[in-house]
Amino acid sequence: MKLTERADEALNELMEGNRRFREGSPKAYRYSPSDLLHISRNQTPLAGIIACADSRVSPELVFDQPLGSIFASRVPGNVASDSAKWMLDLAVNEFRVPLVMVMGHTGCLAVGQLLDGDKGGAGGLHRFSVLSAVYRAKTKAHDPGEFYLKAVEENVQQTVEHLARDSYSLRASLIDGTTSIVGSVYHMETGEVKILESTLEMYGRC
Ligand SMILES: [Zn+2]
Repeated sequence: MKLTERADEALNELMEGNRRFREGSPKAYRYSPSDLLHISRNQTPLAGIIACADSRVSPELVFDQPLGSIFASRVPGNVASDSAKWMLDLAVNEFRVPLVMVMGHTGCLAVGQLLDGDKGGAGGLHRFSVLSAVYRAKTKAHDPGEFYLKAVEENVQQTVEHLARDSYSLRASLIDGTTSIVGSVYHMETGEVKILESTLEMYGRC
């Protein structure tokens, strides 16, 4: 399956915004009262993004996008939660977003707390899901230094797989070619969002 032309355009728009953000030259959007009134009447988001709840990982800021551009669900560890699937139903069915992105990030506490195993706590099955990604990373990391980043990447990959499998709306739109999905990792030390090639390999690229 290839990224659709519309998905490719949306991804390029996001990556161009990320370039502006990390180079310190964002568009600095400002809204007049009439702008806000106009925005309140309609929305045409270019992407649905599942991101972590971390206070340093705002999709609108890191992609330098205005109000109305991103339909988002944020949950610790960017897992495939019920609320993320509900968001996708709305984004895909109501707004026909061309692109869905799962965005993990370096320094993720939800992943970091599980690197040494599960000590219990809130989150239930979602915590178990992150733990599963950590185990997957252990089999792939070649040295201890890359284990954490590998766990973050595996967690993104896993959420992409879970959403494509469990969200009927997303699955249907992937099959009929109206939406594409990619995974990414936001590197907060530099501000750069890097696309996960493994997810592009799953869904292809034009
Ligand atoms: Zn996080």
